[in-house]
Amino acid sequence: MLLELGDELLGEGLSSEERGALEQILYARRRGYHLLLGSRELFRSLGDVAGLSTRAREMLTKAGEQQTMKKDLRHAVTHRIRIGRGGGCVTRQVDGVSVISVPLRHFVEAERCVRAVVLGENRRDAALAEQMGRWYGQVRQMGTVRMRCRLIGGGGSATAVEFRGYRERGELCICLVDGDVEAPGDSIGDTARLVLRELRQHEAWAHAVVSRCREAENTLPTRLLEVVVAGKQPTMGLVTKLEYLDTGRPASVVRDYCDFKEGTNVAWILDRPDGPVRSFWLDALSRLRSLPDVRDNCVTSEGCRDGDDCACWILRKFPENLLERSVDTLSKMTPENMDRLVCDKTREHWLRAGSVVFSWSCGTGPTVG
Ligand SMILES: [Zn+2]
Repeated sequence: MLLELGDELLGEGLSSEERGALEQILYARRRGYHLLLGSRELFRSLGDVAGLSTRAREMLTKAGEQQTMKKDLRHAVTHRIRIGRGGGCVTRQVDGVSVISVPLRHFVEAERCVRAVVLGENRRDAALAEQMGRWYGQVRQMGTVRMRCRLIGGGGSATAVEFRGYRERGELCICLVDGDVEAPGDSIGDTARLVLRELRQHEAWAHAVVSRCREAENTLPTRLLEVVVAGKQPTMGLVTKLEYLDTGRPASVVRDYCDFKEGTNVAWILDRPDGPVRSFWLDALSRLRSLPDVRDNCVTSEGCRDGDDCACWILRKFPENLLERSVDTLSKMTPENMDRLVCDKTREHWLRAGSVVFSWSCGTGPTVG
């Protein structure tokens, strides 16, 4: 994370607790977990604080010399932490960036300074989010910044409890959860709702973002899917056709809400109770009828004669392990090549998740010597 040392640390001397916290922060910077921002004057004067270790002083000098490269980074992040003297944790907007003010003494506990946690509903969701963060760094031309984070799976519905633990222990944590929405205007799923309920303004070092689609699979760009399921033509043909039919509407209207794991068929649509999900999909059906698998008969009679075995696929189910294989493919790619895959149907999702994951995870390589 980008940690800004506030000029008020200049004033009267630091307490021994604050000095201990400063040591922790500088140790974490040395490991490359975070980046430090501050005025040259402050870095110089902190170097004179009595009782600081030699390594901490060296780190202050080094960080002080590297301030110019951080100018662009200040605007590339969605959030940064500003470390000051007193008070609690407050967040305010500065030039479109959420600046979370945290008192220096907060960091006296070593675990509050280590790499930020990227918390997903399971570890592969977190791993996908990390790749989105890496991609975002490339988009913002932050090539020298390294992603430094810990990937944790919250265990599905237990994610909110896990998130609360990090928040209460004062650890840096960014949590990404599926919206589980099946249509625009549909209410978010239980896991997402429970996680959002755990957000606290005065403990903003832990933050959560809910996706605006069904599941993580919906955010996978089509060109990535093509690479991952190479040879499985029936599935891919339908994604491509789906996108073609969807052209001219706000990007990814139907694609965001299909079930990539189980597939989405006409029987599922007709089975929806009255409400926004049913009306959205019935409206969409009128355009999706020309999909090769959709039998007109099923649509017009509002019931599939095959019942639960309805084979009128809007989208066929993808092969197992789609997410693992996608993350595996992405992790071996350069961010430049990843950027060639991200399309206008998925870009918004990548920006939304990638920007916060990048903000929590931006760091650098360890300092040697
Ligand atoms: Zn059918």
